[in-house]
Amino acid sequence: MTMESPLNTALAQLRGTIDKLGLSENDWQTLSTPRRVLQVAVPLRRDNGDVEMYDGFRVQYSTTRGPSKGGVRYHPDVDLNETISLAMLMTWKCALTNLPYGGAKGGIAIDPKTLSMQENERLTRRYTSEILPIIGPERDIPAPDVGTDERNMAWMMDTYSVNAGFSVPGVVTGKPIVLGGSLGRTSATGDGVAIATREALRARGIDIKGATVAIQGFGKVGYWAAIALEKMGMKVVAVSDVNGGVTGFSSVSALWDYYLSHKSLNMPGCDALTNEELLHLDVDVLIPAALADSITAATAPGVKAKIVVEGANGPTSPEGDAILQEKGVLVVPDILANSGGVIVSYFEWVQDKQNYFWTADEVRENLSSIIMKALRDVESMASNKGVTWRDSALMIGVGRVAEAHHLRGLYP
Ligand code: GLU
Repeated sequence: MTMESPLNTALAQLRGTIDKLGLSENDWQTLSTPRRVLQVAVPLRRDNGDVEMYDGFRVQYSTTRGPSKGGVRYHPDVDLNETISLAMLMTWKCALTNLPYGGAKGGIAIDPKTLSMQENERLTRRYTSEILPIIGPERDIPAPDVGTDERNMAWMMDTYSVNAGFSVPGVVTGKPIVLGGSLGRTSATGDGVAIATREALRARGIDIKGATVAIQGFGKVGYWAAIALEKMGMKVVAVSDVNGGVTGFSSVSALWDYYLSHKSLNMPGCDALTNEELLHLDVDVLIPAALADSITAATAPGVKAKIVVEGANGPTSPEGDAILQEKGVLVVPDILANSGGVIVSYFEWVQDKQNYFWTADEVRENLSSIIMKALRDVESMASNKGVTWRDSALMIGVGRVAEAHHLRGLYP
């Protein structure tokens, strides 16, 4: 089995898309290069006085369609290569959903579970001050990603604002509501995953009521997706976290209450299963909503689901993807399936710019209309051109960025 680096995978996808769209070598040059890459050292003073150094990154892959936009990831595996590939995915995601943004990503190579609250705050503030010259509401707008949440966004917003001398809520999205966050942002990625799942079931002619779903990951994406799927009438039969999964629970909210109080999914009356067993359950839909490379050459052959909805970024390796395609599995790609997060981030940024805040219903309706438009575009291009949903989504996203490049022209 070959383990491609995430950047090589993303570049190979881009190359294939450029060829399918009949774009030129000049387009390949302009689209395959991140425009601004910043690596910083982030010193952290631990609570016991020890000083440790961590690698931090911010990559602005594209600003052609607007300011760059994308999350900040705290995870030990964060490196420049992964950050560039995720910033590239954000670029196609924002273009596919027609948000007026380029794409970015940032992160620190650290395990946030090793941080006390005070350490996390110091780390976040220092990282923010290191990347401060290149972020801003008109330049580049960070947001939460794996390992970060609204607390980190509050500290980032405060650090930026203190340096500016006034409050600048629009510098980050995914903030707490009282600091200019948007209603519905916390559940947005999961809500979008649920809408994508419903539409994929419809496309495959499977009844939504009672359709069975297994979700790998029970965090920001997996939990909210599970809640929304249940509301739509689907049956979430299994979920997992890094330590493994469970099946046989009565409802997602009952399991969530247990998970919060016991920090474990092993609720009495449920059956435990490994993450690999979860991937191989006989369900209608499988939702990988954890990290990259969960469906690979090793795990894809055992997948029995008819539909895979990518809640995580890059959960399917190219080999895994080819195996799913051979099996006739419909894959809803990450840049479409998990776009609900950045769509509501866009609403938050708009609300902050206008100092006028929307109701939860307005957020829900606008999220639905934007993601449904992207779903319809992807489905119809896939059937018109005879390509997969992933190819179709990339063709739309990359095509829009290329068109914007052509119209803006090359300076000087
Ligand atoms: N980190 C999320 C993503 O990968 C959200 C990014 C954002 O809201 O800017 O799409």
